Amino acid sequence: MREQLNITGTQLNYYFICKRKLWLYCHDITFEASSDLVKIGKLIHKESFKRNKKEIRIGNISIDHIKDGVIHEVKKSDKIHEAHQYQLLYYIYYLKRLGITTTGLLDYPKLKKSVKVVLTPQKQEFLEHTIKSIQTLTSAEKPQKPEYTPICDKCAYAEYCWS
Ligand code: SF4
Repeated sequence: MREQLNITGTQLNYYFICKRKLWLYCHDITFEASSDLVKIGKLIHKESFKRNKKEIRIGNISIDHIKDGVIHEVKKSDKIHEAHQYQLLYYIYYLKRLGITTTGLLDYPKLKKSVKVVLTPQKQEFLEHTIKSIQTLTSAEKPQKPEYTPICDKCAYAEYCWS
C-alpha cells in the first residue's frame, strides 16, 4: 500500500487535466518553466500569501501552507476545480496515511474565494482508484495521442502537441 504515496500532487492534478500531459511530465518532458501562465500563477501565489508560512515538503507532497491545522492550496482560477480538488484530497490522504487527520481549503485569491475540501470515504475510494490508474498510465511506453480540449489553448505543452 506504500506505493500509493509514491506519486505527487502535480501528477494527481494533471491526471484530471490531460492524461497525455501527465505522461509527458512523468517522463521529464516539461515546458512549464517557460510558460507565461505558469509564471503568473506563481506570482499570484507568492503575492497573496507572502505573510503565511512557506511551502511545506513532506515526502512526495508539497503543501502551500498550513493555517489553524487546515492545509491550503492556492490556485489562479477555478476552471479546473476537479483537478485542484483531487490534488488537495491527495495531500489530505497522504497525511492521513501518516496518522495526521486534517481538512483542506482551496484558495482562489483572484476570485476572493476559498472552497473547503474534505476526504469522505467515497472520495478516498475514488482517489485510491485514481492513484492506481496513474501508476498504470505512467508506466505505459508511449503517451496518449493528443486530444484537443479548450485547456490545450493555455497548456505549456501546446506547441509540442500541435505543431
Ligand atoms: S496541449 Fe492539450 S493534449 Fe497536449 S498536453 Fe496540453 S492539454 Fe494535453
